[in-house]
Amino acid sequence: MHATRTLSLALACAALAAGAARAQTPAPITANEIDGHLRFLSSDLLEGRAPATRGGQLAAQYIASQLRAFGVRPGAADGSYFQRVPIDVVRAEPNSVRAATQGKANAQLRMPDDVVLWSGGIPQSMSNTDNIDTNVAGELVFAGYGATAPEYRWDDFKGMDVKGKILVVLVNDPPAPASEPNLFGGRAMTYYGRWTYKFEEAERRGAAGMLIVHTTEQAGYPWHTVVGSWSGEQRMLPRDPRLPAPLAFRGWITDSAATALFRQAGLDLAQLRQQAAQRSFRPVSTGITMSVTMRNRVQHLQSENVVGVIPGSDPQLAREYVAMSAHWDHLGIGPAVNGDSIYNGAEDNASGVSDLLAVARAAVQRPAPGRSLLFVFVTAEESGLLGSAYFGQNPTVPAANIVANLNVDGGNILGTTRDFRLLGDTKSTLGPRFAQMISGRGWRVTADDHPERGYFYRSDHFSFAKVGVPSVSIGAGSDYEGKPAGWGAQQEEDYTEHRYHQPSDEYRPDFDLSGAVQLSTLVLDFATQIANGAELPRWNPDAEFANLRPAR
Ligand SMILES: [Zn+2]
Repeated sequence: MHATRTLSLALACAALAAGAARAQTPAPITANEIDGHLRFLSSDLLEGRAPATRGGQLAAQYIASQLRAFGVRPGAADGSYFQRVPIDVVRAEPNSVRAATQGKANAQLRMPDDVVLWSGGIPQSMSNTDNIDTNVAGELVFAGYGATAPEYRWDDFKGMDVKGKILVVLVNDPPAPASEPNLFGGRAMTYYGRWTYKFEEAERRGAAGMLIVHTTEQAGYPWHTVVGSWSGEQRMLPRDPRLPAPLAFRGWITDSAATALFRQAGLDLAQLRQQAAQRSFRPVSTGITMSVTMRNRVQHLQSENVVGVIPGSDPQLAREYVAMSAHWDHLGIGPAVNGDSIYNGAEDNASGVSDLLAVARAAVQRPAPGRSLLFVFVTAEESGLLGSAYFGQNPTVPAANIVANLNVDGGNILGTTRDFRLLGDTKSTLGPRFAQMISGRGWRVTADDHPERGYFYRSDHFSFAKVGVPSVSIGAGSDYEGKPAGWGAQQEEDYTEHRYHQPSDEYRPDFDLSGAVQLSTLVLDFATQIANGAELPRWNPDAEFANLRPAR
């Protein structure tokens, strides 16, 4: 017995020594570990990982368990891995939208043929109520593009008080004239062109509601897309009392309905649109009063972000963080396509989560960099970046101490590439730094082919940008090693057409995860470089969020 015990102690010591040796020679990221995560997270058992469902909870628990097994510390404020995220599901039932012009018959606007309206948000204080009625009336004010952009010396409001008014604005950025080709980013969309910005600006100004005038050409999508996206239930965060009060309603109006409405008041929308393209534009009071009655049925859900930390090794720098993020949620169970109703979201975004789990595992085994590494697996991206927005509003470490965010939304399942795409590469020093790092390996960053689509504003890194953190989403490019030119682009089209947000985005045994290893390794190397670097990432001076970064 005694001899055996001594032997087992010796074995234990040998195991400890081996463990220590492993810490010095970290195991590289492998395709097998990514494959293991990906198979599980995208399996039918997880039922498409919708927030606040059993499958979603399983995904979050799996991520936390993996982090614990790797030795990544819990990163949420309560000492767990879970940051609770409240989500309101709001179904707005507008029952009347009328517009009155003095001396004219009242116009009744048809829903959803003329207008689509939904709740601007539910105040936190009302989060125990299930039905909230909206009765609001206000004068319609045409406010051009609804933009106030000091960096472009542009202000559509010109000091007009629009409290209690219902604003009517145009979609997109103001157009860049030939004399000023870089106005509002030129061909690229800036945040001022996004509908989210326009609603937020209206809130900051105390407006009662806002209608965006839809034209297919300007919006880039037809009216039925507006109806499909906004006439059903909307998911939103309960309104944080530190933010401006929500609008009573948000909405879209068709170009023809707005034109007819304005004509009744003697105004020509086509002419107003031309005026709105000028810097000298002033908002126009229409004299039309719009009244809206609707009932909002509210359901309260709770989901979770999963947060882990690897503390930095430098006592001074460890309070600063390089944050890496990936959304774990997908669409859950939905309408069946070819007999399959589970929206597994293998590429979107079980793949990114799997990559980031591999990064976390490998990072624990490498020597810790000076700054800390923060892993944030966010929920409810598919409902409008809600999990990351909640994290941005309630960061588990001060936002000013997060020096960068690297997001992965869509891992690579097609093999290794010679190029990479960074959403946000032209907005901060992160783009050139990443390009420089990979150029040493013979690789390059490919420019965004569609800057006019505003993808930068549509992934979770943007929630970090909104609180001032220089951020990018990192993904594979389309130049695949060992494949003919054009193959990568063809694969992307195939994905968009046949699998994007469909039940067919599911695990396939023919995934080539060599590219996932390549991408994960680059994310880890880049995060490590930033976490050890003397120079902190900086916004470019013309980036929309540059002035949110406190001077340091
Ligand atoms: Zn998606």
